[in-house]
Amino acid sequence: MKAIWVEKLGGPEVLQLAELPKPAPKAGEVLVRVRAIGLNFADILAVRGEYLAPTRLPYIPGMEFSGTVEELGEGVEGVQPGQLVAALGGSGAFAEYTAVPARAVLPVPSNLNAYEAAALPVSFYTAFFALHTLGQAKVGESVLIQAAGGALGTASVQVAKAMGLQVIATASREEKLELARSLGADQAFLSSDPTLESKVRQVTGKGVDLLMELVGGEGFAQSLRMLAPRGRLLVIGSASQQQATLRPVELMKKNLSVIGVWLAPFLADREAMLEATQFLTPLLAAGHVKPVVGRVFPLEEAAQAFQYVLQRASTGKVVLEP
Ligand code: NDP
Repeated sequence: MKAIWVEKLGGPEVLQLAELPKPAPKAGEVLVRVRAIGLNFADILAVRGEYLAPTRLPYIPGMEFSGTVEELGEGVEGVQPGQLVAALGGSGAFAEYTAVPARAVLPVPSNLNAYEAAALPVSFYTAFFALHTLGQAKVGESVLIQAAGGALGTASVQVAKAMGLQVIATASREEKLELARSLGADQAFLSSDPTLESKVRQVTGKGVDLLMELVGGEGFAQSLRMLAPRGRLLVIGSASQQQATLRPVELMKKNLSVIGVWLAPFLADREAMLEATQFLTPLLAAGHVKPVVGRVFPLEEAAQAFQYVLQRASTGKVVLEP
């Protein structure tokens, strides 16, 4: 089968197209013929060796995908050969076939196509855990979502609206703000706007209750300033790849909380996953929320797809097609 193979850490140039044996499903696993792969910022960081989890070489990158079930390993129940599924695992998705544990397989509402199904797991489950489980968002509260035209951003805007929140979107370009508005954002401002802080105060009266920090770096101090008293800063990503410093005493004046968010540990928490699935599936099936698919690249052009995200050119989820 065709796959992307990584033998040494680095930038997009280390992604090699290779011909590898098709995997066989072990007991408890499902072999899937991959139809579409969701490209995550985390894939780029993992290939560089800069992700939260260590990268074990050599390997096939890719943590989320959709595809049709090809074969079931011993003891697997509840999925049928031929069924379209999405899955969220550790690696191995940049390929024509991949085998994943059955518990990594997620339901796909029948109104989603294979591209949309591939764009679903990481962004929508992260948005749910960030806002609901960790952020404890309440109806009527406000949230500022950074990089709101990206993959996690477009999912978060929709999930936040479905939770009854006032959504303020920020992004680097007007086109991305327009996308966020079309998905329900109540206000949308350029992240470079020198009057951003006063605009946020103006539309909320007191600052935001929640802020999804996706960009990190030098904007981190500004994020803290934009929070309302008792506000919660959700540290989800650092797409700027810059360091930020925090003086803990700064949190005391407004009783602020800073909360780290990482999807990976939730994958082993069956109850939390079920709660997220029960919240998201009816919204997806009714079309109230929908994965936003940006550009689709052939798998052979994975390196170009990495560059496209790194250049901040993408909107929604970039998808690879084997
Ligand atoms: P996106 O598709 O949103 O792309 C990244 C976005 O980050 C860009 O579109 C850009 O938006 C913004 N950005 C700001 N500075 C840079 C930079 N120097 N280089 C590239 N992009 C930059 O990616 P994802 O949805 O995959 O991820 C968004 C963030 O959320 C990442 O930091 C990622 O690591 C994190 N994440 C964390 C998860 C978790 O479990 N904690 C799960 C999923 C994602 P703009 O141009 O508008 O600034």
